[in-house]
Amino acid sequence: MYREDFINDEEIFQLLEKGKKSDINEIREIISKSLSKTRLEPIETAKLLQVNDKELLEEIFEAAKKIKEDIYGDRIVFFAPLYIGNKCINNCLYCGFRRSNESIVRKTLTKEELKEQVKILENSGHKRLILVYGEHPDYDAEFIANTMNTVYNTKEGRGEIRRVNINAAPLDIEGYKILKRAEIGTFQIFQETYNHKTYEKLHPSADLKGDYTWRLYGLDRAMEAGIDDVGIGALFGLYDWKFEVMGLLKHTIHLEEKFGVGPHTISFPRIEPAIDTKFYNQAKYKVSDEDFKKIVAILRLSVPYTGMILTARETSQVRKEVIPLGISQIDAGSNIGIGGYTVGDQVPEKEQFQLGDNRSLDEVVKEMNDSGFLTSFCTACYRSGRTGENFMCVAKPGNIQNYCEANGILTLKEYLLDYASDQTKETGEKLIEKELEKISKKNSKRKINIKEKLQLIEEGHRD
Ligand code: SAM
Ligand code: SF4
Repeated sequence: MYREDFINDEEIFQLLEKGKKSDINEIREIISKSLSKTRLEPIETAKLLQVNDKELLEEIFEAAKKIKEDIYGDRIVFFAPLYIGNKCINNCLYCGFRRSNESIVRKTLTKEELKEQVKILENSGHKRLILVYGEHPDYDAEFIANTMNTVYNTKEGRGEIRRVNINAAPLDIEGYKILKRAEIGTFQIFQETYNHKTYEKLHPSADLKGDYTWRLYGLDRAMEAGIDDVGIGALFGLYDWKFEVMGLLKHTIHLEEKFGVGPHTISFPRIEPAIDTKFYNQAKYKVSDEDFKKIVAILRLSVPYTGMILTARETSQVRKEVIPLGISQIDAGSNIGIGGYTVGDQVPEKEQFQLGDNRSLDEVVKEMNDSGFLTSFCTACYRSGRTGENFMCVAKPGNIQNYCEANGILTLKEYLLDYASDQTKETGEKLIEKELEKISKKNSKRKINIKEKLQLIEEGHRD
């Protein structure tokens, strides 16, 4: 019925069925395989997905925390989304930007308006952005590359955006090559749902987005065009969450087998209400907070070394609970309206959906300081070519920390001096002291080295 692809719905159903038959010892063996930082096989993930026993679930959560600590340490990388345009030719049932939604004010940022948004973000301390676009002939690869160039070339005060990631409709190989030349960071495509029938129901077949297979192989084309870092994702709430986790794992394995390296990041957004969009209220598969925690922890165990992104779609309370279970990147101070970073221009009619966490960047950094997580604005991996396979060579044996710990501390220091409120500065300085103590227990020379660099930053030097 469908063109051949690497997602076989029947096979996933069967795996999930088989996953119901396992005993405690088997589950513990799978957990210890994850703890040795080995990617799980689909049947192993299926077994974790079927665990209901409270004690065993607790063991899964504890293992997820341990893997996060071992691979990523306390670090959380920060970024902000920047919506460039909300014109869209598709009619995805769940999205506020769908073409039939007449309540939305259609808008594409002009070059000047884009610069204005970037300056605001730079002035708040951001160094990484993800640019987001509807699917529209106006937003072709040339246009996307031009917006990327504008972002890279807009510099405000001490601020500078150093890594630009993209979330846009899948392109052809030529299009991706244009983005590669414009120095793209990660290209992100969410499959939305991996279930073929559900995909068909939610994406009208006459639309460009109606082609499941074109979207599924969108990141293959990106990699063929030389883009090293790609991000996969599923929009949770469209179909059964267990099926989607299996789809994400299958997608990871496909990329690993074909290109020798899996996705750089995995995203697991939950569906949010959108203006004049009935889908949310009627959605059968909405994911509870409890199940959301399982999704994050089981993904952490399944692909121990892949970056995991938690967005401000989630409330501050959910973010607080879920971050320790395996998250490596979050956005903060986010606004998803077109031009929404300008005070007074934050109207719901320009937003794709509603955010759950509307706190400022400074407030979120302070919370990270208070809960012992190290905010990092580092972009060094990308700048020194540690992308794709080179990144995974460092990530897989759990060596990211050695590179990133110091960079995280130094970029937090810069943030505290240049952008933070007094309270955030105070708590941030305390956190840096604690981090230095931890490092000194492992390697006293490294602590001295970092202290020297911190001194230079105090004196006004910047990376
Ligand atoms: N238009 C492009 C596309 O669909 O691939 C890229 C950008 S689209 C604005 C980014 C993502 O927003 C989609 O891939 C989808 O997963 C997510 N999204 C759409 N509607 C949403 C909603 N109501 N709640 C949460 N996320 C949503
Ligand atoms: Fe358009 Fe993307 Fe929204 Fe679908 S999800 S309607 S393609 S912006």
